[in-house]
Amino acid sequence: MAVPECLFCGIAAGEIPATVVLDSPRTLAFRDINPKTPTHVLVIPKAHYPSLATLAVEESLLAELVAQVHEVARAEGIADTGYRVVFNTGGHAGQSVDHVHAHVLGGRPMSWSPG
Ligand code: 5GP
Ligand code: ZN
Repeated sequence: MAVPECLFCGIAAGEIPATVVLDSPRTLAFRDINPKTPTHVLVIPKAHYPSLATLAVEESLLAELVAQVHEVARAEGIADTGYRVVFNTGGHAGQSVDHVHAHVLGGRPMSWSPG
């Protein structure tokens, strides 16, 4: 199930260090190494799914992942001030790690632009 050359499989397996925020049996939340906002956490399924396209058919896992996204927001104190959830998917969106991940962004007001 783990893909040997996949960075996030390595993090999920504990083989590559990361700052873990929340750990559940099937999902993991850890801090982005290059934060774009004061809070920038990535939430992944521990199993390898290349993108949202392949995770979308796994409804219960997708629901667990989204639930953990909101748990992260609560734990980080941004649930009330507001936060953004981003799944970059594919080339035009700039997905750079081919193991699906939700960006949880918050801690300051954000403008919105797809650019
Ligand atoms: P994407 O561009 O695929 O939507 O997001 C990938 C994210 O992974 C980027 O925000 C990048 O900063 C983050 N990232 C890349 N390498 C590492 C790493 O080794 N550790 C952590 N924690 N985050 C990483
Ligand atoms: Zn992977």
